[in-house]
Amino acid sequence: MAASALLYLPTTPSSYHRIVSPTLRVPTETSTSIPVGLLACQRDPLLRELRTKVVSCAISQPPPPPKRSKKGSAPLHNESVLEVILHDTVLFPEGGGQPFDIGHITATSNGQTYDVTEVMRAGGHAIHYVRMVNANSDVLALSPGAEVRVKLGDDGFNRRYDHMTLHTSQHLLSALLEIRLNLPTLSWSLTASPAPCYVELPRSMTVEEIASIQAEANRLVFEGRKVHIEVQELDGAQEPDVPKLASGREVGRGLPSDYTGGVKRVVVIDGVDRNPCCGTHLPSLHNLQLFLLPHTESLARSSTTSARLYFLAGPRLITHLSFSHTLLTGTAALLSCGTPQVQERVNQVVDERKRAEHRAEDLEVELAARIAGDLLRDLSENEDDRLFVSSTHRTDDSSTALGFLSAVVSSFTNVLPSSPVKDSPYLIILSSTPSSQTSMSISVILIFGSDEKTVKEAGESIKTKLGAKGGGKGPRWSGKLVGVWKESREEAAIKEVLRAVAEN
Ligand SMILES: [Zn+2]
Repeated sequence: MAASALLYLPTTPSSYHRIVSPTLRVPTETSTSIPVGLLACQRDPLLRELRTKVVSCAISQPPPPPKRSKKGSAPLHNESVLEVILHDTVLFPEGGGQPFDIGHITATSNGQTYDVTEVMRAGGHAIHYVRMVNANSDVLALSPGAEVRVKLGDDGFNRRYDHMTLHTSQHLLSALLEIRLNLPTLSWSLTASPAPCYVELPRSMTVEEIASIQAEANRLVFEGRKVHIEVQELDGAQEPDVPKLASGREVGRGLPSDYTGGVKRVVVIDGVDRNPCCGTHLPSLHNLQLFLLPHTESLARSSTTSARLYFLAGPRLITHLSFSHTLLTGTAALLSCGTPQVQERVNQVVDERKRAEHRAEDLEVELAARIAGDLLRDLSENEDDRLFVSSTHRTDDSSTALGFLSAVVSSFTNVLPSSPVKDSPYLIILSSTPSSQTSMSISVILIFGSDEKTVKEAGESIKTKLGAKGGGKGPRWSGKLVGVWKESREEAAIKEVLRAVAEN
């Protein structure tokens, strides 16, 4: 007998959505749209699919609403997009800091499934931005009164679940910060996955404060406190004023000024928090495990200072842990140590590198003086009064090869005035190439001499003969050459240049 497994999808308890006014009803007339505040996604946040009817459908008119531009996903408002309003929907329109859902609409008449790439609230309506498939038949299939199935799909549900987890966590976190530390939430951001979300607070927090808030939040999570929604007519509800800071900024969130749905909605975490919000929230704190990044990031604005506290929960927390773990174990493998030793080992490596760099610098100074010394000796051994010419080529994988050549020149010109050959005419060319040669390799050339004119002349010849680029000032000329450097070609050409200058 074949084994079978059944996966039960979680369902929202019937006590979740509570209409607390005796007169408020969820509209059933399918030719009108249920206002935002009472949508199926807000009544039942775990519902994935719904059969409903189209109320209106129009070809999307550019330009797009400007405020969308900063949120990452580019809106598709153009002639290939339809703006569809449904009687009811499982797709949440952006609001309360929570981003919009994505999903699909399937028209019953032609069986065609359309992608919903964005859902926005306009007044009290949720507008679905639907990607057209066939310009001729789509408008008909989605015409007012047409029956459709609107669903989140797997991608849409995963995205929504992530948003709900973090949004409900934010309510819990903000409530505890307010109750325990008298810290109001100035704003919050549900960032794009997988980045941590944050709340903005009027001051930074100590590590101890963060740990105690995290511990209390997770006690409530393990207890599995229930969450429910209370709705009533907006007119009947007594609207408490949203407190404002001295700067004029509102603390927390009130109702958006353009909201016309007529419904006041309060999200209640049993015994912890009551907060007006249009977002979709999980029916309980179960599985919300809240992780607070154990530091706050201070933000200095013109006149005020605030701080961000970052947090993670649910699937995003697991993604973060997996990523951090992979990073840590990968680093440990590179360092051939256990994960607890990573920090110490990295410290060691950084120290060793600093010491090695320091030693290399010391050796470079010493070596530059040696090379300069050799050149001075050669110059003093030059018996006739004619121009002394010399070229030295080095192999150097340093990113500052020209700097080393300059150090040789400096060392040479520092010692020269006190040497017996201080008045002898000379022209010296130093060059340096990396050890591995490709068409992209960069070699550097430095010319210096006792006579500016001769240096310039040699520089010009190098440019012509080697195809190098460069220029100079006074008795120094520097240039570079891109490509393979050959002893038989480039170095030979340098020697030829020197010979020609010497014979002049
Ligand atoms: Zn909220």
